Amino acid sequence: MRNFLFALLLVSFCSMHGQETASLDYYLPQDISYDPNIPKPKDIIGHEVGEWHVTHDKLVFYMQTLADASDRISIENRGTTYEGRPLILLTITSPDNHRNLEQIRQDHISLTEDGADTLNLENMPIVVYQGFSIHGNEPSGSNAALAYAYYLAAANGPKIEETLNNSVILLDPSFNPDGLQRFAYWANTNKGKNMVSDVNDREFHEVWPGGRTNHYWFDMNRDWLPVQLPESRARIASFHKWMPNILTDHHEMGTNSTYFFQPGVPSRVHPLTPPVNQELTAEIATYHAKALDKIGSLYYKEERFDDYFYGKGSTYPDINGSIGILFEQASSRGHAQDSENGLLTFPFTIRNQFTTAVSTVEAARNMRTKILEYQRQFYKDVKSENRKDKVRGIVFGDSKDAAKAWHLAEILKLQHIKFHELSDDITVNGKAYKKGHSYFIPTDQKNARLVKAMFDKRTTFKDSIFYDVSAWTFPLAFNLDYAELKSTSAAGDLVTELRPLSAEVDQQSSYAYLFNWNEYYTPKALNQILNKGLRAKVAKLPFTVEGKSFDYGAILVPVQNQSLNPAEMFQFLNSVAKDSKVPMVAVGTGSTQGIDLGSSNFVSLKKQRVALLVGNGVTSYDAGEFWHLLDQRYDFNLTKLDTKYFNNVDLSKYTSIVIPNRGRGSFLDEKGTEKLKEWVNNGGILIGYRNMADWFSKNEMMALNFKKDTLVAKNVSYAEKSDFLGAHATGGAIFKAKLDRSHPINFGYKNDHLPLFRNTNIYIEPDKNSYNNPIQYTQDPLLSGYISDRNLEMVKNSVPFQVQRSGKGRVIIFTDNTNFRAFWFGTNKLVMNAIFFGKMM
Ligand SMILES: [Zn+2]
Repeated sequence: MRNFLFALLLVSFCSMHGQETASLDYYLPQDISYDPNIPKPKDIIGHEVGEWHVTHDKLVFYMQTLADASDRISIENRGTTYEGRPLILLTITSPDNHRNLEQIRQDHISLTEDGADTLNLENMPIVVYQGFSIHGNEPSGSNAALAYAYYLAAANGPKIEETLNNSVILLDPSFNPDGLQRFAYWANTNKGKNMVSDVNDREFHEVWPGGRTNHYWFDMNRDWLPVQLPESRARIASFHKWMPNILTDHHEMGTNSTYFFQPGVPSRVHPLTPPVNQELTAEIATYHAKALDKIGSLYYKEERFDDYFYGKGSTYPDINGSIGILFEQASSRGHAQDSENGLLTFPFTIRNQFTTAVSTVEAARNMRTKILEYQRQFYKDVKSENRKDKVRGIVFGDSKDAAKAWHLAEILKLQHIKFHELSDDITVNGKAYKKGHSYFIPTDQKNARLVKAMFDKRTTFKDSIFYDVSAWTFPLAFNLDYAELKSTSAAGDLVTELRPLSAEVDQQSSYAYLFNWNEYYTPKALNQILNKGLRAKVAKLPFTVEGKSFDYGAILVPVQNQSLNPAEMFQFLNSVAKDSKVPMVAVGTGSTQGIDLGSSNFVSLKKQRVALLVGNGVTSYDAGEFWHLLDQRYDFNLTKLDTKYFNNVDLSKYTSIVIPNRGRGSFLDEKGTEKLKEWVNNGGILIGYRNMADWFSKNEMMALNFKKDTLVAKNVSYAEKSDFLGAHATGGAIFKAKLDRSHPINFGYKNDHLPLFRNTNIYIEPDKNSYNNPIQYTQDPLLSGYISDRNLEMVKNSVPFQVQRSGKGRVIIFTDNTNFRAFWFGTNKLVMNAIFFGKMM
């Protein structure tokens, strides 16, 4: 038997050097037998694991078939992606446990609650959540999930029995179905009969935007805290439903690397993560090391990757009493590619992922009670921390914008954080918090550490290198007023169900309707009104009419001489108000305190036709964020113009063109640039972001003065070079700017200050005329996050926004991203102001 197995192994291994693909045996442990009644992947999807890149539909089909065939597996669909693909989850445990699953789940959750001390851990299963390929073009994880699910369903013997008796495995075979599908299409369509491993082959060079991201080109491994994307919402719901003890996240990295597993760089662990978390991670790592040693694979740990940003899958669990683990496999980015470590085949990458998936559940099985005890202790410690905390709660809100506050409340809900309505309107530090526009979060709750992770401002750090952003303070991202309170007296009813907001027009008018520009969804409302062919105007100055006050940017819709009659108009505006959650008021007179409604200080607005430059040479993340904003939030019919055919497009129908950050690859050529200039001169509004500042300047579309950094290394050794350069990168931090609220770019902002997210080192000197600097960083701008001292000096008093005339048009630059990762609600209005009011600037 032994010799036979050995021979089999040899055969499956040898085949890897030829053109044949690995058999399933290449992946599976060969010292055990497998249930012949369980269908193998090839029986169902028609190809061997690793022979082709599995498409998501085939993956789902196999998992459904497996769940039907095995009493160890149940399957559920938790929703759909933007492209309508199912978000499936397999629950894998012994048939006995399956019969008792809800009880097991409840007992497990009890471990994190009051009274957990009385629970007996001896017979309690450990919960392990294993997820794959959140980056769609890192497919070895999802392809390994085929073999791994088969293994869990079919393996025989005491070891697997013990594993299944003592664990509940939540298997999420594809964290990113749309991205996986996109990449599978690419790799498969470029595969020849003869395997070509030449790095220059098209197979290894995906077209823009690649398969890494989801439908709107978001990096979903940054959305575990903000949960703005449907895939994250399904995943986070499963997380909180089960509170897993271990969560694994299987990725890929550069082709010439080997294999990485956590722990990462020790100095770059978030201070809110308990040290025991890292000790347990290190102990779990010994299982991965042993398993990879056994199959001869190289690996490393404690380098390069960190455990800092809680928005990532391998770090998010660490603030929730769980242990998150990152795996990174060198990518074949296709079927086989030459690398510094020899021929890197797709099956080899899959086998490493399979191997560490198995070593994860082995570690879980052997360390079970220790890890369960860690989780119990984590929540006990939270409780005693809470008792000592002088801050009893946090109030947040915006007295003029209910929707923004609602969206942050929605995140709290999705993260299972307890919060209340206000008992009454209150004022704290001069800021008014209105009932219905504000909420109260008690600090004495189970998820208190998660609340800290979301609300804390942090400006001192142990290390100066960050794999990702160094700050994500939510109330700053939402530009909400917030304050820490020493009592819970502001707490009203606990919010058990967050009801959707509603708004209406207060009554019918035969004269005019008005609404303030402050609410988050006003651009959606205005867009609907203008698209209907109605005339609307914007107020350049504040005024009061019939006892109601209106601020800069208020919108006026007169009743007379419109395409709808007064009754139709009332009905239409009511539907707009309801849909966009923007309250509107009717007035019966044009006579106001301040500018009268017929004043030339009301400027006529035009229907907008917005285009977004995408494709080669454009950063897909930034482009996707803008596409998502206009399409999903504001319901615009946004046209995506590709750089590939830009030169052949008639631009005259577009009122605004947005160019996100310039990325890699060829960009607009001379002809395209001239075309763009001509369109601006004829009245277009050109809006550029981040490093487009440089491009606008070089192409003489804007006159900008940059503050230049002349970074010179002194007493820095060659070995310290990358740390030195890393410390001067601005990976992502939050800065405070002063607003001139009378400038149209700032319409709808009620405060004189605004937090902005910046992840560049582009600094523009202010214009000599102060009215041309409506947004300017303050003298003490750092609100949260890391920035080097010399860069901080550069930010001070610089300007993140400039607008300049060119013929009849305008060129606008934002050096900072106003739409970062779909959760920077606070700065979205800036770009909408540029679109609607650019001509007034
Ligand atoms: Zn990745």
